[in-house]
Parts: sequence; structure tokens; C-alpha cells
Amino acid sequence: MYFVANWKMFGDLRTLNSLDKVIKFSKTNKKNKFRIIYCPPSTLIRPLSKRLKKTKIEVGAQNCHHSYDFGANTGQVNSRMLKSVGAKYVIIGHSENRQLGEDDKLINLKIKSAIKSKLKVIFCIGETLGEKRKKRTNKVLAKQIYNGLKSVKNTSNIIIAYEPVWSIGTGIIPKANDLLNSISYIKSKFRKKTPKVLYGGSVNNKNIDQLKDINIIDGFLIGGASQSSKKFIDIIKKTFN
Ligand code: PEP
Repeated sequence: MYFVANWKMFGDLRTLNSLDKVIKFSKTNKKNKFRIIYCPPSTLIRPLSKRLKKTKIEVGAQNCHHSYDFGANTGQVNSRMLKSVGAKYVIIGHSENRQLGEDDKLINLKIKSAIKSKLKVIFCIGETLGEKRKKRTNKVLAKQIYNGLKSVKNTSNIIIAYEPVWSIGTGIIPKANDLLNSISYIKSKFRKKTPKVLYGGSVNNKNIDQLKDINIIDGFLIGGASQSSKKFIDIIKKTFN
């Protein structure tokens, strides 16, 4: 089971001290039942990966530029740079970035660049509320998968995060049956090797009780609640209770 913490644009060097509790907790993971990945802002990737060196906790980035080559792109960071400072994963296609104008074509280029840099990709897909109401969820998911992974031959380094846009940061989670249907549908789109599929959207230490028994889910992408080490640990503990 994957537990991915997406810190979004929160955190500075002092915040890293709060992870001591999670580091201690991660040592109880003797049988590798779970995998913890922290995706902090880019500024914290290096210090965090140094701090986590002797632990099993891994580090990821939250986005990357689409160009594998270095270039005149002020303010941007590419996949090679992220890899060089210790990132092993990168989130691509998050709805907060899609809302800023990232389209499927750009996401596809980013995914290919990340794979070239040997990063594992946490590829976010999900429908908006309007699309859900029009019963277009499966169509949207199929299109995002098809376009995002166009000419990506080897999907073994792709993890899908199903994140309905209407559930991110709203406190609302999908009904168990809807989640089951969407995740089964996503898995059915892959004939050769089925990727891990995570759920993300308002997961917290209370609603995890409703989510943990949907055994088709391979883990969770956790935003807001991951900023509290206590809540994050609670989510992991409750998943296995
Ligand atoms: C996210 O941003 O990926 C996310 C799931 O956020 P939250 O848990 O805060 O809804």
C-alpha cells in the first residue's frame, strides 16, 4: 500500500522536524506492508532526502518542466534536476496544475521526460463535478489515460492517482461503489501490466475507515492531512486495522 504525502506549497526547513515521528513510525514497517513517499515543495527535496537517507521513506516532487534538456525556462525545474537532488517520484497532471492550463499533451511530454530521467510517475487523473453530473467520468478518465500515456511503451514506472477534482480539499469523498467502479475502470484500460491505482481527495484519519476496505485501492495520495504527522500516521495505522 502506498501512502503519498503531497505537501503542495506548504513547508520550510523547520517543518522537516515534524517528520521525526513519521521516521520513528516507519521503523515498525518490518514486513514492508506500506510504502511512504513524501512530495514536498522542490526547495525541500534535497534536505528531506538527506534526512531520510537511512530510512525507507522515499521522496518525490510535485511537478516538473516537460523538457528533458536544460534550457532558458526561468523559474522552471526539470526531471533531471529533481532526480539529481534525490527525488525518486514525481506527481504529474495534478488537477491544481491542470486548472492552471496544463493539458493532456503537455502532461504526456512531462511523463516521457520523467521516465527518461528514471523517475517514477504518479499520474493524476479525475473528473470535475460537472463531468460527474453529466455521467462522463469514464469517458474523461479514458481520455486522460490515453492522451497522457500516448507512446509511453513501458508503464511499469507509472502509478495512477485517481483524484476526482470535486473531492480535492473539499472534505467530500466518493461513494464506495463509485470509487470501486472508477478504479476498476482505470485498471481495465491496461491490458499488459496493471498499474497501482491510488485514491486521492480529502483522505483523512476519520474517513479512512470508509476507504480502507475497498481492496482494489493500492494506496492513497494525501494532501491536507499529510501536513500533520499525527494524522498521516493515523491514516496508515487505521488502514491496517
Ligand atoms: C491532493 O492535492 O492531491 C489531495 C488529495 O489533496 P487533499 O487530500 O487535501 O484533498
